Amino acid sequence: MNTTASPATVFDIQRIRADFPLLSRTVHGKPLVYFDNANTSQKPLPVIEAMNEHYREHNANVSRAVHQLGEEATAAYEGARDKLARFINAPSRNELVLTSGTTQATNLVAYSYALPRLQPGDAILTTVMEHHANIVPWQLVAQRSGATVKAAPIDQRGELILEQYIAMLTPEVKLACVTQVSNVLGTVNPVREIARECRKRGIALLVDGSQAVPHRPVDVQALGCDFYALTGHKMLGPTGTGALWARREHLDAMPPFFGGGEMIREVRFDGTTFAEAPHKFEAGTPNIAGFVGLFAAIDYYQSVGFEAIHAWEQQLLAYATERLREIPGLRIIGEAAEKEPVISFLIDGTQATDLATLLDLQGVAVRSGHHCAHPLMQFFGVPSTLRASLAFYNTREEVDAFIVALLKVRKLLM
Ligand code: PLP
Repeated sequence: MNTTASPATVFDIQRIRADFPLLSRTVHGKPLVYFDNANTSQKPLPVIEAMNEHYREHNANVSRAVHQLGEEATAAYEGARDKLARFINAPSRNELVLTSGTTQATNLVAYSYALPRLQPGDAILTTVMEHHANIVPWQLVAQRSGATVKAAPIDQRGELILEQYIAMLTPEVKLACVTQVSNVLGTVNPVREIARECRKRGIALLVDGSQAVPHRPVDVQALGCDFYALTGHKMLGPTGTGALWARREHLDAMPPFFGGGEMIREVRFDGTTFAEAPHKFEAGTPNIAGFVGLFAAIDYYQSVGFEAIHAWEQQLLAYATERLREIPGLRIIGEAAEKEPVISFLIDGTQATDLATLLDLQGVAVRSGHHCAHPLMQFFGVPSTLRASLAFYNTREEVDAFIVALLKVRKLLM
C-alpha cells in the first residue's frame, strides 16, 4: 500500500523496495534489515542492469578508439560526467574530475592544490568530526611541507562550533575543509556560512559531500565552496566511482597528480604537455561501467525525488531515535538539531562490536567500530560506537525489527 510521505508526494515504499533485489534476501535465516547505508548503499535494478548492458552491448575503452563501440563507451562515460555535473549544479562539466571516490578526490586536492602552495608555518583547517579521508591526506602533505593541520572543535551534541571554526580561519590557513554531513553523527554542517567566511578571507574551502549526496539535493554554486568531493557507492552507484568538483581557476592552476595515458596532449622526452582539465587528472582507463551505473543511480534518485526521500528519511530518523531512547542504558552520540538519518549509540555494559556481531545473527546489518573517525572517538572518549544508518528504502517495520533484535542481544550480553 502506498504511504504518504508528505502532502505533496506519494512515496510508494513497496515499489521502491522491489527495485532493490538484495533487500529481500535473508541473513542467517532472518529477513535482512540493512542499516549500514552510510558505509555503502544497496543498488537498485536499473543500476545493476545498466552496468550489465554496458558489458553485454557497449564495452570498449574510452577516448582511444574510433570504432563504434569506443564511441559508445566514450559517450556513456562522458554522459555520466554531464549527468553528475547537473546533479550537483556544477557550472561546467569540465570542472568535474571523475575519481574512484572521495578518498581519491581529497588526495588529488592535497597533492595537486595544497602541496605546491604550502610553506612552513602554513596550516590546513579541518574539523574533529571528519572521516580520515578528510584528515590524513592533509597530514601527509603538511608533513612534507612543514605546515600543520588544525582541527576545529565540536560540542557534546556533535555540532560544529561555528564561531571557533571561523576564528581559526587565520591568515596562515591555505585550505579549509569540512564535511557537509558527518558519517558518524549525522550532523549537517553550516557549509554555506563557512564558505562565506572562507571567501571573505580568500581561503579555499573543500567540502566532503560523501554523506550528503545520498540524502539531499546539492548545489555547489549555492554552497559557495571551492572543492566538493563525493563518492558514488553511498548514493546507489557502484564502488570505485566518485568525483571532485573544483572551480575552473583551481583546476587550471593545479598540476597533474597521476601520470599516464589519457591525460596528455603530447609526450616527448624533452617535455610532455598535458590535456585540459578535467582530463589531465584522469590518467589511465577509468571505471567506465561504474560510471554507467552511477548515471543510472542519479536517474533513480531523480525519479523518486529528494523531497519525498527527505520526508521519508526524516520520519524514519525520528522514529528510530525515539525507539532507541526507550532502551535503558542507551546513549546516542550525535544529537545535532539538523541530522541526516545516521544514529550512533552505545549501550552501558556492552561492547559495540559484540552487539553488532549478535545483531548480524538476527539479520540486522549495522556497523560497529571507529567509522574511520578516530579523532571523533577520542573527543567522545569512546573506542567505538554502533551505528545504524538508514536510507529511503528502509521502513518503520525494519526499525521495529531492529529494536526487537537489539533488546534481545542486549539481554544476552548483560
Ligand atoms: N568521507 C566520508 C564522510 C565518508 O563517510 C567516507 C566513507 O565512509 C569517505 C569520506 C570515504 O569515501 P570513499 O572510501 O568512498 O572514498
